Amino acid sequence: MGFWDKLNNFKDRIDQVESNIYTTQKDLMEVYEKNLQLEAEIKERTEELELANQRLVTVQHIWEMMNSSQPLANVLDSIVNSLQGELGYLFSCIVQKRVDNQGQYLELFAESKCPFSESVTQVLGKPLFETRLRWREDKDVDFHIENNKIYQSKDVLFSLDYVFPDLPRKTIEDLLKRTGMSSYILIPLRCNGKHFASLVVYSSRPSAQESELNFLRLFSKQIEMAITVANLFQTVKDQAVTDGLTGLHNRRYFEEEAQKEVLRAQRQNQKFTVIGLDLDHLKHINDNFGHSCGDIAIKTVADVLKRNARSIDITARMGGEEFNILLPGVDHVGGLVAAERIRKAIEEVEIDVLGHVTASIGVATFGEHSDNLNELLELTDQAMYSSKKNGRNRVTLANPEELESWQDIAIDSFIEILKNKKMPIDKSVSERMNKMLSKLSLDHDALYTVSDMLSALYNPNHREGSSKEKIVVANLLAKRFELSKEDTDKLRVAILLYDIGNMMLPKDILQKRSPLTEEEKQLIKTHPVIAAKEILSPISVVQDIIPIIEHHHENWDGSGYPANAAGQSIPLCSQMVLVIDAYFALVEPRPYRKAKSKEEAIQIIKDGIDTKWNAKIAEEFISIISDD
Ligand code: GH3
Ligand code: MG
Repeated sequence: MGFWDKLNNFKDRIDQVESNIYTTQKDLMEVYEKNLQLEAEIKERTEELELANQRLVTVQHIWEMMNSSQPLANVLDSIVNSLQGELGYLFSCIVQKRVDNQGQYLELFAESKCPFSESVTQVLGKPLFETRLRWREDKDVDFHIENNKIYQSKDVLFSLDYVFPDLPRKTIEDLLKRTGMSSYILIPLRCNGKHFASLVVYSSRPSAQESELNFLRLFSKQIEMAITVANLFQTVKDQAVTDGLTGLHNRRYFEEEAQKEVLRAQRQNQKFTVIGLDLDHLKHINDNFGHSCGDIAIKTVADVLKRNARSIDITARMGGEEFNILLPGVDHVGGLVAAERIRKAIEEVEIDVLGHVTASIGVATFGEHSDNLNELLELTDQAMYSSKKNGRNRVTLANPEELESWQDIAIDSFIEILKNKKMPIDKSVSERMNKMLSKLSLDHDALYTVSDMLSALYNPNHREGSSKEKIVVANLLAKRFELSKEDTDKLRVAILLYDIGNMMLPKDILQKRSPLTEEEKQLIKTHPVIAAKEILSPISVVQDIIPIIEHHHENWDGSGYPANAAGQSIPLCSQMVLVIDAYFALVEPRPYRKAKSKEEAIQIIKDGIDTKWNAKIAEEFISIISDD
């Protein structure tokens, strides 16, 4: 090959390389451009993913809120805040159309906390939710709401200017400029198939894209669900504090609210009055006209109470045929007037078939009759009972000096026991006792006589005077253990009643001289407690005393009955009754043994320490008896 050939050849090769380089360069450019495109797409997708993720987190947040059983207002506040915070809206709120005597208006159910709402609040001088928002008839908006469609508008200035008539237009213009609000979207919310409220979001974007609207649709479904769930919670909550028959509040609600009222009354140095009311002769109505008529009588009273109550009064059915009304800020004078008005209104109602019903009423005032809620309610009750005793269908004001004594509880219990037809008491004996009892409110000492007479019915060896002796010892024991007046009273009544169940035992077993069979022992052991419980359970005044009686044969080491309870799990008063009962039984003769002397009995009590009885109670008891 000559020189020129070689050169040409070389040139060809260079051209080839050059052309190769050029192609590669072109390829590279293409790759580079593609890369750029891909990167932009990835960025876009990532942003979409992030947004989707944010939306999911928001939806999840709503779910969590819904499951937290919080009040609806809290749930909605949290929803609008998360919508705004995470999705970049400038303000979001939930509004509901309402009507009152001044016409239609918009109520703000929930609002997001943001510079916009803060500025408006500042200019208006009160929170947004306290502001009456003007409602505007708008056919276009109404059409969207009716058809459950999302409504979009750029006319933010006009809508806000209308909704806030008290806000100067200039202020709104400034606010819009400052916040950059340029459109709003209204999403109708439904609950139980009906329009309930609207979610309104204000955006800096002039219009929303389809994906944003789709999300808002999804989001509004979650809000609807939250509202439905919160309403359900509210219904369940209402049911828990509402009485099913009358729709009034129940005892639980009354007690909770009364406690709050005490705090409020103390804080504001105010009085309040409680009116206690019990329907007269309901048993008679039930017996003669049927239970459903009884129910109607109860509902009638409830309706009268509803009609007479102010919105701040707490009106409740406390149980059965018993009602309480708490009147905040009312003294006894106002309380008596209200009570009399209620009494009269009840008396005046004409009920089909039944005719008229009446009620007995008691009135007590916090800050006048007592500063203690329990005592106040007890006083109300007692005043109500006085109304019953004095002929029913009347109002009685509380008299703290007449706080029912434990003797009255015992007297009432004995009267009820004598009424019990199952009790094996001769008619003449029962009549004699009844006569004595009816005079007892004047002469309390005779209570012991009746108690002794009742004991003698099932225990011929019962020593007259021992009922009183037991009470004296019980009083001293209660003092040494610093029992409250309430517990001391319970102990005293229990002392008079704990053995009443013996009356239901066959007499021949009680007086048997030969040793008892296993079966008889079992009967004697368990039956009296069961019987006492049975006899006493219908008597309302002794409900607190029944548990004391039920457990007065439990031993300290758990070997007693009926529950084999041990140590301090046995009611303290039961532990006291056990020792007192044992000692007084020991010093009395029994058909199968002679009476023990005082010293012998004390020794037996000592021997039973830590097995039968609580050491401290036994020691105090011995010291009391020995002092005697
Ligand atoms: P008093 O004038 O002394 O209050 O007599 P009373 O018959 O109203 O009172 P008592 O306490 O002797 O009886 C109350 C009766 O009320 C017994 C109970 O069965 C009945 N009762 C309680 N709750 C209801 C209820 O929801 N509906 C009906 N129909 N009766 C009820
Ligand atoms: Mg009644």
